[in-house]
Amino acid sequence: MHDLILRGGTLLDPGQGINHRADVAFSAGRVSGMGEQVVGAEAGVEHHVDGSFVVPGLIDLHTHVYWGGTALGVDAGSVARASGTTTFVDAGSAGPGNYAGFLRHVIEPSGPRILAFLNISFAGIFGFWRSLMVGECADLRLLDVGEALRVAGENLATIVGIKVRVGRIAGGSSGMAPLEMAIEVAEELNLPVMAHIDLPPPNLRQILERLRPGDILTHCFRPFPNAPLVGGRIRESAVLARENGVIFDVGHGMGSLCFDTARRMMEQGFLPDVISSDVHALCIDGPAYDLLVTLSKFLALGMPLGDLVERATLRPARAVRRPELGCLRTGGLGDATVLAIEEGAYTYLDCTGEKMTSNRRLICKGCVVAGAFLPVEPREI
Ligand SMILES: [Zn+2]
Repeated sequence: MHDLILRGGTLLDPGQGINHRADVAFSAGRVSGMGEQVVGAEAGVEHHVDGSFVVPGLIDLHTHVYWGGTALGVDAGSVARASGTTTFVDAGSAGPGNYAGFLRHVIEPSGPRILAFLNISFAGIFGFWRSLMVGECADLRLLDVGEALRVAGENLATIVGIKVRVGRIAGGSSGMAPLEMAIEVAEELNLPVMAHIDLPPPNLRQILERLRPGDILTHCFRPFPNAPLVGGRIRESAVLARENGVIFDVGHGMGSLCFDTARRMMEQGFLPDVISSDVHALCIDGPAYDLLVTLSKFLALGMPLGDLVERATLRPARAVRRPELGCLRTGGLGDATVLAIEEGAYTYLDCTGEKMTSNRRLICKGCVVAGAFLPVEPREI
């Protein structure tokens, strides 16, 4: 009666307060049974996962997976096989002018699920490479709210919000205008905005004051400038934005996770809401690698496993308003990831070149996407 059973693991679903030994069974793409001893896999497959944790499928809230359509895109299938990520949320690789290709050539044929924030800029992130860097928000002629509204409105099955890259690198001298335009489109469709931040202007306070409840600030643990700290203390604007319901997302990437910032923020009780990798072509071989490695860095920073899992399942699912993705329940979506903690000697690098050593890391033993088991071989870093 079941197609697949994961046997003997510890079911860990922080959103539902579940942390105990249980089998999890899948059938027809959905969870078909959970309990101490699920029976009935006559025609199916069983995997023994004793000593591991079965968690809801990992969701990476900030990725770039428009492989072949944008230079920074990576292949979601390959990243899933290295990290156990079952849902990739693309953060604005495509804009209104090239979303159709992303949908047809990448999202629809993909094994892992792909959802997307639509870039407010017409051609998405088109000029991002080692030897050149042309920000898609640097010329406001590229931003058309009417086209963004039309394309997002026509693709609400896969588009979960509007992405905008705000700052001097992505936006030149455009200032706050790209963010205002993204918010105008998002308001019309009742969607969240994901705002990237790089170098000022604008500064962090200006951006945070403008974001609405449910909007996402990505690259939230940047180094100076535009870090969420001033003189080592949490900026008041960050505290106020959190109180207002703004979601703070890590978005590791090439330049956006600073261990010192993360340590100081967490010491003062300010944990990120979501942990994401911002995996793209220029950080997939370090420093970010993928979501699994990014989570291991937060394990090394002292975050307990339950808190990590919540920030890569329930919280990102809520951020994109797809709560069915972030939990495991009978009858629900058949996505799961099998995680374990391994002991050894590991060294991690942040975006400033700081090294951190740890005697533990997260590894992934496999994942399940829509009821189908996918073996996972974690990256050696
Ligand atoms: Zn990004």
